[in-house]
Order: sequence, then structure tokens, then C-alpha cells
Amino acid sequence: NTFAEIDLGDALNQNIRRCKYVKPTPVQRHAIPISLGGRDLMACAQTGSGKTAAFCFPIISGIMRGQPVQRPPRGVRTVYPLALVLSPTRELSMQIHEEARKFSFQTGVKVVVAYGGAPINQQLRDLERGVDILVATPGRLVDLLERARVSLQMIRYLALDEADRMLDMGFEPQIRKIVEQMDMPPPGVRQTMLFSATFPKEIQRLASDFLSNYIFLAV
Ligand code: AMP
Repeated sequence: NTFAEIDLGDALNQNIRRCKYVKPTPVQRHAIPISLGGRDLMACAQTGSGKTAAFCFPIISGIMRGQPVQRPPRGVRTVYPLALVLSPTRELSMQIHEEARKFSFQTGVKVVVAYGGAPINQQLRDLERGVDILVATPGRLVDLLERARVSLQMIRYLALDEADRMLDMGFEPQIRKIVEQMDMPPPGVRQTMLFSATFPKEIQRLASDFLSNYIFLAV
């Protein structure tokens, strides 16, 4: 019932202690074992419930301890992240990035953020230094894909945060375009986590389109 009892890998467990997280929140208590077990997840959770750690911990742990992956040689400038976190706004992306960076300290896992409404050049330079986990807003990511600066062919983990808010903001076409690119060969084994405060028809449709054999969690 404490993070010390969950083996996420030494470096990550140490970072969790440093962040002074002792007890998992309800969403973390349920979501982390499900994701570590390799299952897809649809979680109804509010902001403030601790969902950032709920999707970051399994992703960081999985990348840290997973088999070393053979990424295609980087194209002139194309990078191949292993995990993608989609979030609706610049502010939320920045927050997720900040937390994910704390959690990934000294794990060897690199986190980069890319959001709209800001110049793209610094983000391009950040990407060029290498990226394992990309945190992005949908519009800016589509731009990066069109410029062939990012490829999603190696994505092993996909987290959609505040999915209902992304749909309210009209991002469904971009999200579908993004997820389609992950289904291109070579077929990866992709694990998907969908987080939403509400569970209307549109989110149920996304869940059935993007998740396979998933566990539904409401906290
Ligand atoms: P989130 O819902 O992910 O935005 O998290 C809400 C706030 O709770 C953030 O400030 C987190 O750093 C904090 N938090 C998340 N999980 C825990 C935990 N298990 N113990 C203590 N604080 C936490």
C-alpha cells in the first residue's frame, strides 16, 4: 500500500521518494498494476487525482527496464519516441513534462515537450537531442509529423490525458490522424491508457477504436 512496495526500478522508486510520494492515490493504486501488467486502460479520473503519475510511472518503468529497442537510424532529423502523451493544452503539457522529468531523473529516459502557441524552433532543437517520451498537444504534433521531424512507428506506450477536453476543443481529427500513424508497419505492441473526467458516447467510441481488451476504471 506504499510506493516502496511496488518495484518500478531503483532509479524511479528513488525519484518517487524524492518527490515525497508515499501512498498511491486511488487512481494510481489501481492503474499502475494494470499498466505494469501490460493491459490497456480506460480510466475516469478528475484533475488532481494523481493521474499524471498513474501514466508516467508505468511508462518510465517500462522503458527503463524493457528490452533495449532497435530504433531505426535517425533520419536526417526524424526522431522515434517510444512513448507519447497527448494533452489538450500548453499549460497541461508543461505540467506533465515537468513532473515526468522529475520522475525520470537518472533513469536514462528522456522527456521532451512540444505544444502549440509557442515558437517551434526550440522544440525542434530539444527533439534533436533525443526523446523517449514525447509530451505533446495534438495540433503541434501533427505539424511535427508533417515536417517528418517525429515518427510514431516505435511508439510502445500511448497516454491520452483529459481526452474529453481534447474532444471538446475539436482535436478529434488530429488525434485520429496521430493514432493512425502508430498502426503503420512495423507493427509495434502498443499499450494505451485513456484518461477522461467524463465517459460520454464520443469517449466510449475512442476507447473502442484505440484500446484493445481494456480494463475500465472509475475512481
Ligand atoms: P495530478 O492529478 O496528476 O495533476 O496530481 C495532482 C497533484 O498531486 C500534483 O501536485 C502531484 O504532484 C500530487 N500527487 C500525485 N500523486 C501523489 C501521491 N501519491 N502522493 C502525494 N502527492 C501526489
